[in-house]
Amino acid sequence: MSKSKKVLLELNNLCKHYPIRKGLFSKVAAYVYAVDGVSFSIYEGETLGLVGESGCGKSTVGRTILRLLDPTAGEILWRGERIDELSRSEMRPFRKEIQAVFQDPYSSLNPRMRAADIVSEPLRNFEKLTQAEGRERVKELFALVGLRPDQMLRYPHEFSGGQRQRLGIARALSVKPKLIMCDEPVSALDVSVQAQVINLLGDLQKEFGVSYLFIAHDLAVVKHISHRIAVMYLGRVVELAETAELFSRPLHPYTEALLSAVPIPDPTRQRKQIVLGGDVPSPINRPSGCHFHTRCIYAQERCKRDEPKLEEVSPGHFVACHFKLNT
Ligand code: ADP
Ligand code: MG
Repeated sequence: MSKSKKVLLELNNLCKHYPIRKGLFSKVAAYVYAVDGVSFSIYEGETLGLVGESGCGKSTVGRTILRLLDPTAGEILWRGERIDELSRSEMRPFRKEIQAVFQDPYSSLNPRMRAADIVSEPLRNFEKLTQAEGRERVKELFALVGLRPDQMLRYPHEFSGGQRQRLGIARALSVKPKLIMCDEPVSALDVSVQAQVINLLGDLQKEFGVSYLFIAHDLAVVKHISHRIAVMYLGRVVELAETAELFSRPLHPYTEALLSAVPIPDPTRQRKQIVLGGDVPSPINRPSGCHFHTRCIYAQERCKRDEPKLEEVSPGHFVACHFKLNT
């Protein structure tokens, strides 16, 4: 990661609440608090991992950054400039700089388009290249992501899952973005292929200095690629720290529980096994106080009442927990 640490993207108290309408007059009966006050920054050349169980709001954060969704409240800043209130046309120059790779490359790649056309689609949208220049760029991109030139005329179904994700990465990279929002990019792939795709993303970052928001439900997946990791629970970030720090000194009981599910390669070391009891509470009816108290082995009276704020407990290490902050 670059030493200068320039902030590329900043979220300030980002919220996305989905109204649930009921009845004849479509009155709003309740809200799904999918994302509720998320703040973090992504630096140039950095990978920020975003983890948490399914339904905690990770994709909603990602889709709001891409402006596929409009935030309910809060701010999104790109190099210090507000972009959350821009119109579609005002957003255009930023769309080129923020690209995306999604979980299921099969459903995000048009099955009737040839691989070369899929990869060059953003190029056609954003850059005025001659046909020859476009072809040349696509050839370079294929080589960059480890695909052969003779595969350029094939259709998505003629590729393996891992190769399709390489196509998705080539397409995202084609317009030289500054940030790629990767939403569970390896979750649908075989374990053996996951590492290859993660290594490819790492190599591309070294070469081009691109930043990633890397979303996964599994801490083990984000460990090797992330410089820092943010842990989400029910629409909020409960802990954020540098990767090594988070793995060696997790402070939030939820992070502890997620970590205890990650296998340790060294058989002489052991981690305390913490099994998370119960289901994730509904984001419509969230528990009072600390949202995690219903599943927390350390929960005290106060945790049912007061909502803990995300606080910096050591440089760069943020946690939202009464228990960990006061003991
Ligand atoms: P994750 O990516 O972490 O699995 P999501 O961001 O997809 O979580 O979803 C967060 C919460 O918002 C979930 O409870 C989900 O059911 C809810 N949700 C997502 N999209 C909508 C929608 N369009 N309308 C209502 N609720 C939604
Ligand atoms: Mg998701």
